[in-house]
Amino acid sequence: MRSVSALLCLLLLLQWSCAPKKPADRMTDEQLKAYAGELAQKYIIADGHIDLPSVLLEKKWVAVSGSADTLLHTGKGEFDYERAVKGGLDAPFMSIYIPAANQKLADQGKNLADSLINMVISIADQSPDQFALANTPAQVEANTKAGKISLPMGMENGAPVGNDIRNVKYFFDRGIRYITLSHGRDNQICDSSTDTTHTWNGLSPFGREVVSEMNRVGIMVDISHVDDSTFYQVMELSKAPAIASHSACKHFAPTVKRDMADEMIKKLGEKDGVVMINFYTAFLDSVVVNSNKRNKEKLTALLKEKNLKEEDSLAIPVIAQFKKEHPAATTDVEMVANHIDRVVKLAGINHVGIGSDYDGVDGAVPVGLEDVSTYPNLIYTLLKRGYTEEDVEKICYKNLWRVWNKTAEVAARLQAGSHD
Ligand SMILES: [Zn+2]
Repeated sequence: MRSVSALLCLLLLLQWSCAPKKPADRMTDEQLKAYAGELAQKYIIADGHIDLPSVLLEKKWVAVSGSADTLLHTGKGEFDYERAVKGGLDAPFMSIYIPAANQKLADQGKNLADSLINMVISIADQSPDQFALANTPAQVEANTKAGKISLPMGMENGAPVGNDIRNVKYFFDRGIRYITLSHGRDNQICDSSTDTTHTWNGLSPFGREVVSEMNRVGIMVDISHVDDSTFYQVMELSKAPAIASHSACKHFAPTVKRDMADEMIKKLGEKDGVVMINFYTAFLDSVVVNSNKRNKEKLTALLKEKNLKEEDSLAIPVIAQFKKEHPAATTDVEMVANHIDRVVKLAGINHVGIGSDYDGVDGAVPVGLEDVSTYPNLIYTLLKRGYTEEDVEKICYKNLWRVWNKTAEVAARLQAGSHD
């Protein structure tokens, strides 16, 4: 008997010593940092949401030197080629963003979407050695091998679909691979989380057709921004898993309507989807939310006292001075890791990714995640918390790849006429 238990002990010891150790258990802090940098280059990094096209359309940077190739090193905003290369970014989803103000008139949204899509195509045309379009994970992989940054596209707001279901296929053909069903207001497709009208109590009848058509043509359904009622209806209706291209956990900022409640994160995971974590500080941390709210109230009172409105030209120096005296609160990379931990706890490691919202949040990004050169800091933070190389690979792109490929598979099946 004694020899049996000795053998068991030996087996247990062998198992323990052969088990892959977490990088954090075997590396110094410096080694871990270097390793994070290596992983950022080794694996594809996909980011679900970068607002560069709108910034370019407003010519905020192009005006600086008169050409879109300034994208290679603008040093402005949060994205340019040089910083993307440094951070290991390979597949930033370009946001074709349609503000709710552009959704009222027929064709206004569609025209804006077309302009933004043309803008992205022109970036790839003008800098073919640096950028390339990509409509599938395989195309991203081929571009990455060729040393190029891919520019897949997602449309933020389904308003450009208008009331013509054929526009879903139209935008697929133009390269759109996800549609965020709404932005900040209810639209013809569904209710938004930041509207109070409850126009449809979820999806509209036409919105249900849109989701089905997105499944049929192969466009991922993005539930960032939509109302909870819309979310749950999409979960029941969609034949392909959905994504949240740029969302955060309500647990850390309970008053942010657009963040996802725990039950929603669980549900999205059960349906094999992925939550891509937003870096906007005012979505991540209630300390920031409350500080912004207090500052806003103080500024409103100050302007009222001076008999000024926010849009008055005389208010500009007053607002600038106020902001100097009341700097916005911020948060840091650890908080982004907290959100990733939360999704992992609720839904598992296969259901979380990155959706920074860079260039879409007026510079309100966490300390340590200032721009696209900083993804290695996030990887380092995760490694420090005990995440493995395999976990990092999943977060950086594999989880999104699964949904993207699955969406294409479902579309192929539906187009082949199978109804299973
Ligand atoms: Zn957004």
